[in-house]
Amino acid sequence: MDTFRPVADNLRNAEKLVFVTGAGISQESGIPTFRGKDGLWRKYDAMKLATIDAFYEDPKLVWEWYEERRQNILAAKPNPGHVAIAELERHKQVHVLTQNVDGLHQRAGSKLVYELHGSIITIKCTVCDFKDKITSSLSELPPLCKCGNILRPDVVWFGEPLPQDVWQDAMLQASSCDVMIVVGTSLAVSPANLLPVYAKQNGATIIEVNPEETPMSSSMDLSLRSSAAKALPELISIVSK
Ligand code: NAD
Repeated sequence: MDTFRPVADNLRNAEKLVFVTGAGISQESGIPTFRGKDGLWRKYDAMKLATIDAFYEDPKLVWEWYEERRQNILAAKPNPGHVAIAELERHKQVHVLTQNVDGLHQRAGSKLVYELHGSIITIKCTVCDFKDKITSSLSELPPLCKCGNILRPDVVWFGEPLPQDVWQDAMLQASSCDVMIVVGTSLAVSPANLLPVYAKQNGATIIEVNPEETPMSSSMDLSLRSSAAKALPELISIVSK
C-alpha cells in the first residue's frame, strides 16, 4: 500500500489529475501492446498495416488485421486499472488523455476521455462524411459505404495528423493539471509523448506506471516499475483520505 508514498501529499492535495494512457493499460485486459515485450510491432510491419498508403495498396489485408483486433477489443473488459481511474472521479477532477483506440476507459465509466488516436469501434467513409460506431462483426472486407466508397477505421495512422480539437483540449489539460499519471505508454509516439513535458513545464507532479523504463523515467517525480492493474487501485485509498 506504500507504492505512491513519495507523492502521496501531492495526490491528496491535487484538484486536477490527468492520466496519459497507452496500450499498456489494456494489456491486462488481453489486448496486446505495440512495443515492449510481446508487442505487435515485433510480429507485424507497421508500415504495411497502419498507413494510408498501405490501406489503398491492400485494403482487404489491412481490414482483416483491424477486424481481428476489433473483435478482440469488443470481447475484452476493462481491468482494475481502468476501473480505478473511473472511480477516482468521485474524489477529484479527472481527465484521461488516451492514445488507445479500444474504448475501455469509457466502458469502465470515465467521463472525460480524450481519444488522441481515434477509435477502432468507429468506422468512417474515405470519401463522404459518414461516420458511425459499429459493434457487430463485419462480414464483407473491405466494408463499403452507402456512397459506394471504402470505409476505414477511425484511427490515426502513421503520418496522419491528430484530430486537432482533441489535441488542443489535451494540451490544455496537460498544462493545467496538478498531478499527471502516465500509464502504459512507451512515449515513443509523437506528439502524445509531449504531454508529460507540458505538465512538468507547468509545475505538475509527474508519475509513471510502467513495468519497463521509458525515455522519460528519469524525469518523473516517481517512476514505478509496476503493472497498471496492480498499482492504480492503490490511488483510491490515498485520495479518499
Ligand atoms: P506501446 O505499445 O508503444 O507501449 C506500451 C507500453 O506499455 C510499454 O512501455 C510497456 O512496457 C507498457 N506496459 C506493458 N504492459 C503493461 C501493464 N500491464 N501495465 C502498464 N504498462 C504496461 O503503446 P503506446 O505508447 O500506447 O503507443 C502505441 C500506439 O499504438 C498508440 O498510438 C495506440 O493508439 C496504439 N495501440 C492501441 C492499443 C489499444 O487501444 N489498446 C493497443 C496497441 C496499440
